[in-house]
Amino acid sequence: MLVRSGVQQLIAIGPVLHEYRTQFLSKEVKSSFYKTTEEALDKISWEEFNREVILIKGARLFQFERIVARLQRRIHGTRMEIDLDKMAHNLNYFKSRLNPGVKVMVMVKAFAYGSGSEEVANLLQYHRVDYLGVAYTDEGVDLRKNQISLPIMVMNPTEESFPLLLTNRLEPTLYSIGLLKSLIEFLQGQSCIVHLELETGMHRLGLEKDDLEEIIALLKANPNISVASIFSHLAGADESKHDTYSQVQFESFQNGYKKITAALRIQPIRHILNSSGILRLPNLQMDMVRLGIGLYGVNPTSDSNDQLQPVATLKTVISQIKKLKAGQSVGYGRRGQPDSDMTLATIAIGYADGFSRSFSRGAGRVMVAGKRVPVVGNVCMDMTMIDITGINVHEGDDVIIFGEGMPIQEVAASINTIPYEILTNTSERVKRVFFAGSY
Ligand SMILES: *Cc1c(COP(=O)(O)O)cnc(C)c1O
Repeated sequence: MLVRSGVQQLIAIGPVLHEYRTQFLSKEVKSSFYKTTEEALDKISWEEFNREVILIKGARLFQFERIVARLQRRIHGTRMEIDLDKMAHNLNYFKSRLNPGVKVMVMVKAFAYGSGSEEVANLLQYHRVDYLGVAYTDEGVDLRKNQISLPIMVMNPTEESFPLLLTNRLEPTLYSIGLLKSLIEFLQGQSCIVHLELETGMHRLGLEKDDLEEIIALLKANPNISVASIFSHLAGADESKHDTYSQVQFESFQNGYKKITAALRIQPIRHILNSSGILRLPNLQMDMVRLGIGLYGVNPTSDSNDQLQPVATLKTVISQIKKLKAGQSVGYGRRGQPDSDMTLATIAIGYADGFSRSFSRGAGRVMVAGKRVPVVGNVCMDMTMIDITGINVHEGDDVIIFGEGMPIQEVAASINTIPYEILTNTSERVKRVFFAGSY
């Protein structure tokens, strides 16, 4: 039965099962037998479990909750908790703001804004979004390795990455004549789906008005290249003071779109809106929108919005608590100099985890037992000291860096940056733990 169900390992605990251990003769299922829970806790090398689904089952008297606690001890520490139900809620909220038939591309660049591309892309595939967008080819290749079959647009492909693009069915964005020419050269008649990005005022990547004649001529001569979409990007969709500029960008986009499509007699998808645009400029939806940070429950505009639910919480733990006397110093460079007695906690996160050194010396606050407390001294590579004077907490307790009760907007503002940077800075060594109930 174990073999049939694809179980790869059996850990059996208890005197009865232990008795039968010599009769368990499966080559497919790795097995180990322990007389007591105690013995199992002692002898199992817990560090070996990796990317596995573990079913724990047994009568109360075996106290298997001790095993659960032991397994969790490995996860706990510094981790980013991602609530996939809230993510699905945010996706549906954005969809509810779209006119019927408008498609959704979700941007999952930069490790899905730090949240873990594989799991996020899986959720998006389950919810049938129309497109995924990534910045670079390798990000798309990773998604394909994880069985993501949705169409994927790559915003910034390089010539060197063309072979990988093709073998992984990734769709490059063409933003210059040079890039189109080298693609033509590379393809030698093979077919390829592409996207055209028009420069309308962001001044980042994009085809200039003056490039269009030549682009049209090249595409006419190379019918193996088909244009799935034409898009542009707004520079100030998040702020009303740029609304006139956004409108000018939109009109410039429409002119470019008309010129290309009339000449080639095609009708590719049109898109220009990011998350802020979806919230603030619904008239510019056209055929598709590109949802980014909004999926993670962060509202990038200054308008209030109580519909979005923050998805990510970055947590760490207190490694040690110590009492400090006035006059003693804390950390490197002795930059923490409390002027009265202090209870100090060392927490298991530093700048190598993405907790910026700019949070040093009181600039940053973290949340302990529901209270905001300041960073003392300089943030170290893997650890940080905080002032917990007067707060009743213990070693091993959780500390929230951002997320639940600690809005990422506030955290970002404290070091003059934006939530995008805080989210994507969280290093990949920080474990992502995913929660999902209903999806
Ligand atoms: C990142 C990106 C988006 C998504 O932006 P958000 O502000 O996160 O919604 C959309 N379009 C392009 C071209 C992007 O680079």
